[in-house]
Amino acid sequence: MSKQCVEWGEETRKECAEYRDNGYNSCSDWDSKCCGWWPCSWACKLITWFCVAWFWVSNVVCVAWTYFTTAVCLAWEAVVTVVTFVVAVIEVILGTIISAIVFILDVILSIPIIGRFIREIISLIQAIIWRIVGLIDALAWLVGIRPEKKLRMCVIILRDDKGPVADSALVLEEVQAAADIFRSQANVRLIPVGPATIKTPFHGDDEVGDQFIHEMGSTSSDNILDVNCGASAWGDDFLLTGSNFNLLMSRFCFWGNARRLFGYGSPITVFVVRSFKTGHTGCSLGPLTDYITVVGTETTDKTTIAHETGHACGLWHVGGSTNLMFKTDSNLRRDMSNFQAINLRNSRHVTYF
Ligand SMILES: [Zn+2]
Repeated sequence: MSKQCVEWGEETRKECAEYRDNGYNSCSDWDSKCCGWWPCSWACKLITWFCVAWFWVSNVVCVAWTYFTTAVCLAWEAVVTVVTFVVAVIEVILGTIISAIVFILDVILSIPIIGRFIREIISLIQAIIWRIVGLIDALAWLVGIRPEKKLRMCVIILRDDKGPVADSALVLEEVQAAADIFRSQANVRLIPVGPATIKTPFHGDDEVGDQFIHEMGSTSSDNILDVNCGASAWGDDFLLTGSNFNLLMSRFCFWGNARRLFGYGSPITVFVVRSFKTGHTGCSLGPLTDYITVVGTETTDKTTIAHETGHACGLWHVGGSTNLMFKTDSNLRRDMSNFQAINLRNSRHVTYF
């Protein structure tokens, strides 16, 4: 049974009851100040009666509506579950062929400047199209229908002459934090990239595992080991850095290739780099690329992958030290506002199927 659909329903019903009880109190406040002489007293009592009736009816409507939204949420998740199995079969059969074709196309899109320019344009067009399609889901969220969606992630740990640049156990802790935050705040389940990674809304909470992580076997080139952030990272995406990242993505995250071409459920590829020349701990080019970069050696703050994934899904910095999108690194960054949840769910990386 999907926890979130039911829990959100229960929470809303509690709010309905609170609204009713507060209303009743204000009615009796009014009643206690009623005048004692007829016809004033009579009119006053009538208003009290309407007041109570109003809050009683509001509660009934509110509760009925919540049962309705919970039912729609669960029904939709049942549909998602069935379709997920169908899609998994199609992905295993067709995905191999399409991903192999896209792999060749990716070589072209990895050509510095021209190939990279085309790839960024494709990403932007995808971002716009899937955002428009996702508006229906955004509306559903606003009225309280919030079924589970999926976000695919593929982590590649680079390697220098000393070995992997980060301990995969430390990186996994960050992936786990991302999984926990997105699931609790936006009802988005983080899943690894692979054939037939079947996860339905009826699965419980996830403990993330090694299937998220790919460690490079050979030494990476310097242009991806030590990277920039901001405008210079954007510049680098057109050159050898972007080219290398793109080739690694299509090789190590092979099963995401078809989705990256169509943009529907494109996986976020996390490159764990050795360092940032700019001193950052993580970087994202927002909707322009499907990859983010992080250093994986942090031991105190576990939220960098979640934060940068937020940027890749269209979120920007906000105030409030407990918000996921707070600018300064901190392990406290775990909350998302309703608007942020809608925005994240509306990105091309977050889908039902
Ligand atoms: Zn940031």
